[in-house]
Amino acid sequence: MKIPDILRRKKTLSFEIFPPKRQEDTFVLIEDTIKELSDFNPDFISVTYGALGNTLNNSVAIAKHIKQHTHSEPLAHLACVSSNPAQVDEICQELREAKVKNILTLRGDLPADPGMYHHDFCHASELAAYISQHYSADFAFAGACYPEKHPEALSMKEDIRYLKMKQDAGMDFFITQLFFDNEAFYRFLLEARKAGITIPIIPGIMPVSNYKQLDGMIKVTGAAIPLQLRNYFDRYRYDKQALEEIGIIFTSHQILDLIANDVDGIHLYSMNKSSFIKKLMSNIAYVRTGFFAQA
Ligand code: FAD
Repeated sequence: MKIPDILRRKKTLSFEIFPPKRQEDTFVLIEDTIKELSDFNPDFISVTYGALGNTLNNSVAIAKHIKQHTHSEPLAHLACVSSNPAQVDEICQELREAKVKNILTLRGDLPADPGMYHHDFCHASELAAYISQHYSADFAFAGACYPEKHPEALSMKEDIRYLKMKQDAGMDFFITQLFFDNEAFYRFLLEARKAGITIPIIPGIMPVSNYKQLDGMIKVTGAAIPLQLRNYFDRYRYDKQALEEIGIIFTSHQILDLIANDVDGIHLYSMNKSSFIKKLMSNIAYVRTGFFAQA
């Protein structure tokens, strides 16, 4: 099923997973993680795509596995820096044969050396337009958006103008970059709606559980850290269990607040840690049952 059809009926719960670098870990992901995540009846599970191609085969195989062995729809990520039209065609045909009906079209992060990537599609909107022109009936399209603006964008206004172009190129819904400050998301949502972006915008949330991970995320995304979270993380820097507990409680509050504000869905960056997701889901067991129920 296409995810926009689900979004027309209900709020969606979804998880992101990534293909492990080592082949042997892929087996664990498939056998354990996906099975455990499926217990929460996610509407879809998205599978990331190594922009420089090294985990590509695994991404498509994992998306196929989700389609065949779970009740969730797979959302296959596809980044254009690593693909020319022939490669995009090959992947789309493989996904179509496997009845995978949803693609998250992305540009991917640009390596410093322009010789390292393809230049056929410069932006996610061009990739979505190409696929939709050649495979219009086969796929629905998601795109990425950035509540605290994409790091390369000169301003939020410019970023939102390009976001509108993504909607115009045929994207059906957006998933946000992770953020820790819900107010930043609400401000962005307001600006996006004012600019004529009408499609669903699903907040993407990452439960953080260690200091290194938090710092890494800030560097990559530029996400602001609320003072309270920063203080907790500074104070319990060397206490792994305390940080996990704080991460789960903070993220539970973040999700409850988003639910109270009637967002279109919740997308959790699982980092392949189903144990973490389990604790989070049990913290909001009753609220989640109501919020994600069929309309
Ligand atoms: P674009 O939409 O092309 O935007 C990139 C920049 O160009 C922005 O600054 C934008 O304002 C600007 N821009 C957009 N359109 C135009 C235009 N037409 N003309 C001029 N400027 C324009 N990366 C991976 O490698 N693999 C993944 O699986 C992956 N999954 C992700 C999932 C989510 C939900 C998110 C939020 C990000 C993900 N990323 C992934 C990271 C993403 O590839 C990077 O953030 C990348 O730098 C930008 O990708 P994009 O699709 O947003 O690019």
